[in-house]
Amino acid sequence: MFSTFFVNTCILVTFLYITGLISQRYKICLQNSSCKAHWIGGALFGGYGIVIMYYSIPVGFNTIADLRHLAIVATATYIGGPAALIATLCLCVGRLLLFGVTKQAIVSAIFMILIGLGCALLSRLSWSRLLKLITMNVFALGIIFCSLLINLDDIYDVLRVYPLQFFISMVGGCLLYLIAESINTSNELLLRLEHTSFTDHLTNLSNRRQLELSLEEKLPQARQRHEHLSVLVLDIDHFKEVNDTYGHAAGDAVLRQLGQILMDKCRSSDVVTRSGGEEFTVLLPNCAFQQALRIANQILGAVDQYEFVLSDGLVLKITVSIGVTTFPDTGGDMSGAALLEQADKALYEAKNTGRNRVCSYQV
Ligand code: GH3
Ligand code: MG
Ligand code: MG
Repeated sequence: MFSTFFVNTCILVTFLYITGLISQRYKICLQNSSCKAHWIGGALFGGYGIVIMYYSIPVGFNTIADLRHLAIVATATYIGGPAALIATLCLCVGRLLLFGVTKQAIVSAIFMILIGLGCALLSRLSWSRLLKLITMNVFALGIIFCSLLINLDDIYDVLRVYPLQFFISMVGGCLLYLIAESINTSNELLLRLEHTSFTDHLTNLSNRRQLELSLEEKLPQARQRHEHLSVLVLDIDHFKEVNDTYGHAAGDAVLRQLGQILMDKCRSSDVVTRSGGEEFTVLLPNCAFQQALRIANQILGAVDQYEFVLSDGLVLKITVSIGVTTFPDTGGDMSGAALLEQADKALYEAKNTGRNRVCSYQV
């Protein structure tokens, strides 16, 4: 009996590990338990509960004991009520399909639904995860005790199996907590690391690494779909003077506010990056040259009009120069680096012909 409960615990650990890998792959963390996370998590742990039924302990006429309730407790604690209810549904259907529609199976399914509903309600409490998990586990074990009493006529049969089930279930619950917390922490750290490695810390825009990755993705996409891909490269005029006159912190404030202007002027599908010190690059997928030119001029005008406010309340005016190029107008067979180079050349021309202007790359 002990070895079967031990196998139950091992299966639980395996499922937790697989769930951790899946949530890492699809960037699911506890703060963003989406609808998809509820379905995937619920079905996965429902599956865990069904597998565990294969390793259950027969404790009397058509009655089995195992740790399947931990599947519901885990989903309720770590994903939420809807996931717990989905897992419960899977468990009930699995129980009836695996062991046939007997009186015991129906009683067990009804008690499983009670556990699911109770855990779904408990999951809404704003307690710590540990406290919720322990409470749900004890609650589920209470319900299981009642179901054993109904299914097994002999109280001695219940008392023979229940203490061990209670003990292993509590140990399994603690193990579940330790493993799930450790998986969750490492997933969150990984997400944060990924975010910071592709984000510019000052402006919160994408950084150069993200720009290069996006180009690698968007350029073949444009080629395949026969779409245009425009690139804007924007550089602040005489920015060194801003730093020299008002200080580096003032320069940083200007960079942040300029980043916001760019975000406001671009579509959500555009990739706005801070590609260098005071240089920004915008990828405009599915955007023809004339449209890109229009957007560039809008940005130029918006920056020209904008009053940059420094931390001491001082107001500052700046201008920018912008280079524009559009794939495939300037060459159909080029790399992302070549496209950026074209936009850079156009920017260079804008700088050389007086600044505060938009220039386009000429073939
Ligand atoms: P131009 O019109 O030719 O672009 O002149 P410029 O002064 O803008 O260009 P230059 O390349 O001479 O100077 C760029 C300045 O940008 C120098 C550098 O200190 C500043 N800079 C680069 N990164 C940052 C940053 O993160 N914060 C601040 N405050 N300044 C930065
Ligand atoms: Mg500059
Ligand atoms: Mg520059």
